[in-house]
Amino acid sequence: MFDALAIPAADRTSDFAFANTNPPARKQHGDGRVSVSFEFFPPKTPAMESQLWQTIERLAQVQPAFMSVTCGAGGTTRTGTHQTVKRIQTETGTPAAAHLTCIDTSRAEIAAIAEAYWSAGIRHLVALRGDPADGTDGVYRPRMDGYSHADALVRGLCALSPFEISVAAYPETHAQAASSQADLDALKRKADAGATRAITQFFFDVDAYARFLERAQRAGVDIPIVPGILPVTNFAKTATFAKACKVRIPEKIREQFEGIDSDPATLQLVAATVAVDQCLALHRHGVRHFHFYTLNRAELSFAICHMLGVRAARTQAA
Ligand SMILES: Cc1cc2nc3c(=O)[nH]c(=O)nc-3n(C[C@H](O)[C@H](O)[C@H](O)COP(=O)(O)OP(=O)(O)OC[C@H]3O[C@@H](n4cnc5c(N)ncnc54)[C@H](O)[C@@H]3O)c2cc1C
Repeated sequence: MFDALAIPAADRTSDFAFANTNPPARKQHGDGRVSVSFEFFPPKTPAMESQLWQTIERLAQVQPAFMSVTCGAGGTTRTGTHQTVKRIQTETGTPAAAHLTCIDTSRAEIAAIAEAYWSAGIRHLVALRGDPADGTDGVYRPRMDGYSHADALVRGLCALSPFEISVAAYPETHAQAASSQADLDALKRKADAGATRAITQFFFDVDAYARFLERAQRAGVDIPIVPGILPVTNFAKTATFAKACKVRIPEKIREQFEGIDSDPATLQLVAATVAVDQCLALHRHGVRHFHFYTLNRAELSFAICHMLGVRAARTQAA
């Protein structure tokens, strides 16, 4: 998930036993309380930057385990990613993670980018292959002097410095994967290469996530697989992106969002309800870490955290 869905800005119970999804992170509660992390994309204009910083300051109040910043399709926005990540860590004290894609980039360039992050005090990278600049449907052609897939990138980064490395996982299978088994094998290779956490593509089908965890466990993937939660801010765009990523939207959820895209107040209430239902269903099955695709907006993620008992320090004290 990344800023391709940069839009202004079922409760399905399941019999599956969920794997432990707690990551090794700052806000790791021994008593099983919930921890969260947030994803942002680098701002493109001064107005977007100001909006982003209001969002970051608000969400930092709940003391997330980390905040991550995407890098644009085709490896663009690297400067913006670097600046935003560094500022998050310096100004909020929240551990920050930089997304790093290997597409269209040589191994030497990756090494230079990673070293710059290490020198800036960034210790957590989200290592990704990335998509061709013409979108998720574009044909991917690895560079001869680059890393062909994310597992090779993880191995390369681990050889450079002892980074904490998160990778991507796809409960409903990556759109261009040869098969779901091949995609699971790819995740296993990323874990074996040194990744310490997987963060999933957004999904709405809780049972699909549960089945994926079971399969990953059976395949020997022993890193936490943290669910990526997308609070919906525009359903039409979400549905288009979900289709491109082959993410299924259950009929019940489609019905809930029907006809409210132009009614912001109702949309926000419905989006919060749907996301809270999803998180509570996951929580009932043992999930204790949630990663939010914020789309640089605070309201929904902050409210959902509140419902999960993840509160700003001031609210807790009151
Ligand atoms: C949490 C998360 C964050 C993201 N952040 C960003 C971002 O900041 N910027 C951005 O541009 N994109 C981002 N993406 C999108 C991601 O870059 C795309 O989904 C991309 O198409 C795949 O990246 P990957 O790291 O999963 O690749 P890989 O793990 O390399 O897998 C890509 C495809 O290749 C297959 N594969 C893997 N290894 C092999 C192999 N050895 N031989 C043949 N096939 C193989 C896999 O099955 C899969 O189909 C993010 C995705 C997620 C889930």
